[in-house]
Amino acid sequence: MLSLKLFVADNTNWLSMPDKMQAIKEWFAPVVDLEIELFDTFFDDVPFEEYAPFQYGVERKWYEERVVPIAKAERADICLFALDKEDWKGKGADGWRSSTTTPVMLQAGCGENDHIYLPYNGGDYGEMFFMIARHEILHALFLYTGQVDITHIYPHDLDHVRDSLRFERYSLMRKVRDLMRKLLTLLSRQNKL
Ligand SMILES: [Zn+2]
Repeated sequence: MLSLKLFVADNTNWLSMPDKMQAIKEWFAPVVDLEIELFDTFFDDVPFEEYAPFQYGVERKWYEERVVPIAKAERADICLFALDKEDWKGKGADGWRSSTTTPVMLQAGCGENDHIYLPYNGGDYGEMFFMIARHEILHALFLYTGQVDITHIYPHDLDHVRDSLRFERYSLMRKVRDLMRKLLTLLSRQNKL
């Protein structure tokens, strides 16, 4: 099974974060092995900018300069910046996928024990961080598979969205890339490059 590295820049200081990420890993396990690395960050005034009318996300330039280099150093495929609601200034938004480049930049903000309540499904729809994080991770995964992203078509049936992911093409591309790297290393060892 394909393995992708998910780097979590964790600015929340929540003791429950390892358990939350374990739940995320288990939920994605049927289709992709997420190798999760938690990294504590301590930013105390994260800047935000308007992404859409009345919806804000972490200032992209700041994210790229302050968070992405750490994720790149860890060879992450996906970077999730997790914020407590105290630091989250998203207003109308709870999370974003804010890049299409690698590592894919994601962000999520809410309270540690928040739940999402909807007028159906018996009210409690689930733990909020889990709901936001898996939604954003799904957006990132569709970039890797190259499929049409259906996360917003079935926002309340994410099991179906997850099970629609097909990684065969991307896995093949990765195998070719890894072979090329090995070949280049061999050639350079023989001083032919
Ligand atoms: Zn979305």
